[in-house]
Amino acid sequence: MIISQFGDEFETLQAEIARGPIFPCVTPDEIRSYLASRYDFKKTRTLEEVISDVEQMLRTWQVQVTHPRYFGLFNPSVTLASVIADTLVAMYNPQLANWRTSPVANEIERHTLGWLTAKFGLPATTIATFTSGGTEANLSAVVVALTRAFPDYGEHGLRHLAASPAIYLTEEAHNGYNKIAHMTGLGRRALRTVATDRHLKLDLGDLERRVAEDRQNGFSPFMVVGTAGTTAAGIIDPLDEIGRFCREEGLWFHADAAWGGAAIISPKLKHYLSGIDTADSITCDAHKWFSVPMGCGMFFCRHPDRVLEAFRVDISYMPKKTDQTVTDPLMTSVQWSRRFIGLKLFMALAQHGESGQADLIEHQTRMGNVLREALDASGWRIINSTPLPLVCFTRDGLVPARFLATLREQQVAWMSEASIGGAPVLRACITSFRTTEADIHWVVDEMNRLFLQDSGQSMSNQTVAIPVQSTSR
Ligand SMILES: *Cc1c(COP(=O)(O)O)cnc(C)c1O
Repeated sequence: MIISQFGDEFETLQAEIARGPIFPCVTPDEIRSYLASRYDFKKTRTLEEVISDVEQMLRTWQVQVTHPRYFGLFNPSVTLASVIADTLVAMYNPQLANWRTSPVANEIERHTLGWLTAKFGLPATTIATFTSGGTEANLSAVVVALTRAFPDYGEHGLRHLAASPAIYLTEEAHNGYNKIAHMTGLGRRALRTVATDRHLKLDLGDLERRVAEDRQNGFSPFMVVGTAGTTAAGIIDPLDEIGRFCREEGLWFHADAAWGGAAIISPKLKHYLSGIDTADSITCDAHKWFSVPMGCGMFFCRHPDRVLEAFRVDISYMPKKTDQTVTDPLMTSVQWSRRFIGLKLFMALAQHGESGQADLIEHQTRMGNVLREALDASGWRIINSTPLPLVCFTRDGLVPARFLATLREQQVAWMSEASIGGAPVLRACITSFRTTEADIHWVVDEMNRLFLQDSGQSMSNQTVAIPVQSTSR
C-alpha cells in the first residue's frame, strides 16, 4: 500500500525541519491577510496545490516542535509508525463510541491499555480509556472520584451535598485543575494548595494539616493529586507517601503522570515512580513521552464500577451488546463519538517493542543529564532537582525573558521561561529522541557566548544610564 512508502518522505521532512528555523517570525496580521487573500473558498484549487501551500505554511509559521533543538513543553518528535497510524485512522474512520461498530479498534485499544495497566502495577480489572489528552483524563479522575465519594453527586449534583468537597494539590500541579474545578461545579476554590518542600515536592506534613483543618471546618476532603513530572520543573511528588496517606484517610489518590508516566516502561527509570501502583487513578499522555502525535491521553482507574457509574447512559438506538466481556467506550469515557486514538501507541509499540520504546525515553533522559552537566560546568545554576530530562537554570545577571528572545531570534534553541519560587528561570526539556549530545554542547556554547555578549552590553548600558538619571533629577 502507498502509505508504507511514506517512510522516505518522512525522513526527508525531518531532515529538512532539522535545518531550521525552529522559531517563526510572524505576526497574526501576516497570516490573516495571507489566508484572506488566498482562501475565500469560492475559487477551487487542485489538491496538490493545497497540500503544497499548507506544508509551506506549517514549515514557516510555527514553532517546529519536532526539531532536535526544541527544548520545549512536552511536545515530542513523532515516530513514523505513529504518524502512519494516525493516517490509517483517518482513512478508515472507525467509530469508538461502541464495540459493535469497530470490534478490532476496540480490542487493539484494550490490548494496548492492558499492557500499560500491568506496567503501572494496577489490577487487571482496571478500566482504562484513551482520551483526547491529560486534561480529559484528569477531568475523568475528578468526576469518578466525586462519584465514589458522594453517592448523591450523580443524581442530585453538588448542591445536594452537606459539605463542600476539596481537592489537594501543589502549586506545581498542572493548571488544568482550575478549569476542571470550574467545569465540574466544584468551583476553583475547592482546590487547596499544599506547600512544597525545598525540592518542590508535595509536603506531606502540610497535606495532613490541611486535610485535618478542612475536616474540622466542615469541608469534605475527597482527593489528592500527586504529580509525576510537574510541568514547570519535572518534579515527582512522593507517590508512596501520598498513597499511604490517602488509604488511611479514605481519600482518592490521583497520580497525574501525564509526561513522566512513560518512565514506567524503562527498567532504569521506573523506580522513580514507586508508589504509582497504589493510585486510584492515573493520567498518562502517550502524546508526551511516548513520542506519538497529539492527542493521545490515557485514563486508568482501579474502580471499574465507579467509572461505569459515572459515565453510564441508557440508549435505545445503539447496537446491543451480545457479549458481557465487552464494554462500550462511551460508557467509560467523557467522549461519545471517538476517534481510534490508541492505534498510534499500538503501532509504535508493535514496531519498536517495549525495549525500543524504552530506549527512546532513556536516550532523552541521558541527554537531559548531558545538558545539566554542561550547564553546570560553564557557570549556570541548576534550580530544580529531578531525574527526568527537564532542567531549570539561571545565572547571576541574567534577564530570562530577554535572553530567551535572543535564543529564539538567533535560532539557537526553543526554551521556555518557568517561575520557580516566584523567580523567572530558563526551562529546557528534552522532548525529542532526535536530540544528540552534539546538539546540546552546541546550544550550551552558544548560550555562553550570548550571555557574555549580553552581560557586556548591559554593563555598558548601566554606566551610561547612571549619569543620565542623576542629571535629570
Ligand atoms: C500536559 C499535562 C497535563 C495536561 O495534559 P494535556 O494533554 O495537555 O491536556 C496535565 N498534567 C500534567 C502533569 C501535564 O504535564
